[in-house]
Amino acid sequence: MKYEIDTIPVWDAVKEAAGKAVCPLCLLEKKATLSALRYFLSDAVMVPEVRVQMNEKGFSRDNWRLLLQDGRRLPLALAAETRWKTFRERIQKNLDQTRKEAEKLESQKGPQALFASKESLSRAVGALDEAVRRQQSSCLVEERVHDSMGRYIFTLVQLPFKDPDFHQALRNVTLCPAHLVACAKMALDTLDALKAAQIIKILSMSSEEGWQRAQEDVYQFTQKFDSRSGGDFTGLSDAPEKVVALLAGWIKIREKNEERRR
Ligand SMILES: [Zn+2]
Repeated sequence: MKYEIDTIPVWDAVKEAAGKAVCPLCLLEKKATLSALRYFLSDAVMVPEVRVQMNEKGFSRDNWRLLLQDGRRLPLALAAETRWKTFRERIQKNLDQTRKEAEKLESQKGPQALFASKESLSRAVGALDEAVRRQQSSCLVEERVHDSMGRYIFTLVQLPFKDPDFHQALRNVTLCPAHLVACAKMALDTLDALKAAQIIKILSMSSEEGWQRAQEDVYQFTQKFDSRSGGDFTGLSDAPEKVVALLAGWIKIREKNEERRR
């Protein structure tokens, strides 16, 4: 796959996250997700091709929840109405089969009914499970985010060799484990051996420093609940959130100031 360098957002995120044990790629992922969510609840929902895509693929369970939180009711209703229709059509055959097998088993009479085989019903439920999962495995928001993240990760590993200041800035970058791996893979795929090794070494060293700092901060945070400490959480108030963000990526709950007006 061919990627393009996207300098400005990556530089901005690296500056924003510098020295804070916050993953700049998680910041970019959050921005890309919010922008994709906004797009699908904009006038785009009226464009026939976009509606066709929405019907085909829909959104992941997480992203449906975020779309719901956005508060724009009409575009949400339009997207939900058509996607739900397609979703139901696609699982209908398996639902019918499941009901048929359940009725067949239920209609058995006599003492032997207690020992009747559940095999056919179980197979039908398995196929229904697969059909439902298939429908929930595609997500238009994730597709857009994936494209942007490919560009950002490519930029993060390429830019150090074009801009010495960026090379220097990487020494203060903490990546979350998932993004550290993504960068290491991108470096191996797109750089020569020496450069790939350099980038992987810098990023793993700087990330580990950030991980250690996050570990110490969250430990200090737990100690502040001790009555002798006086409950002074200065500089530590978001220590648990930072560790959860390293564990889980950005937290998919909208903060108050990100809520959009209707
Ligand atoms: Zn990350």
